[in-house]
Amino acid sequence: MLLILRFILLIFLMGITSPLLAKPLYIITTSPDLADITRQLGGKHVLVKPLVKGSVDLHHFEPRPSMLKKLSKADCVIKIGMDYDDWVQELVQAAGNKKLLDYWTGVLDVSKGIPKRDVPHVYSKGGHRSGNPHYLHNPNNAFTVAKTISQRLIKLDPENKGDYEKNIVAFNDALRAKISVWKKASKKLRGKRAVSYHKTWTYLYDFLGIRHVATLEVQPDIPPTPKHLRKINKWMKMGEVDLVIQANYYSDKAVKIVTKGSMLTVKKIPLYMDSYAEYFDVVIEILKK
Ligand SMILES: [Zn+2]
Repeated sequence: MLLILRFILLIFLMGITSPLLAKPLYIITTSPDLADITRQLGGKHVLVKPLVKGSVDLHHFEPRPSMLKKLSKADCVIKIGMDYDDWVQELVQAAGNKKLLDYWTGVLDVSKGIPKRDVPHVYSKGGHRSGNPHYLHNPNNAFTVAKTISQRLIKLDPENKGDYEKNIVAFNDALRAKISVWKKASKKLRGKRAVSYHKTWTYLYDFLGIRHVATLEVQPDIPPTPKHLRKINKWMKMGEVDLVIQANYYSDKAVKIVTKGSMLTVKKIPLYMDSYAEYFDVVIEILKK
């Protein structure tokens, strides 16, 4: 009997102290690509869920009340920042989870240290007022993002610092190898002149060596006007554009007007995929076709 009691006590103490039975950190990210990166950096010590699934525009995203449940249990929220997913702040306030309200560990903005592109020089009525937030479309920026996330995981869970340090080395090595593959695979895209619907792809263009000609939107989030579309259509008919790129959730209406009478067809690409690395494999293939 005494032996059985000792055994039960041992199991109970292991439950309190053993790292093997420790609960993983519950991390919420706004976008699916951030979730994938965080999973790779956290490994077995994290449970990560994105608030948004699939290729969804976060500029105009309407948060749902059901998301509060996820946030109420989270240890940390990771967001893209630069005004792109600021709606998550309201959710965090409403969720009333004290952990997330902690300034030092609650909400992590991973745009810190990213070289900003497209910062407006004058007041802009449209989006991207704090610069272009689509920076994860240049995989070189993922090294900075990974460092920021890894440091936060260590802060939240210092006991497993060694594992987080190993994970980021593996993440960086794999990303470096993929970047060299993507660079080779995308050689024929270098120097191509592109038109897109929204100014989504500035960082992707930086990475692939594509030249930005125009967007169909007059300014980020300011819809196209007939006059603006006619001007771009003229350039297309003159052969001044090689690629028309559009995120796959926009309607075809404006793009049909600008490509009319030209040889160009639109390349529809996702904004996110569940796998950050697979995203570039897929996008490069679509753009090369
Ligand atoms: Zn945007």
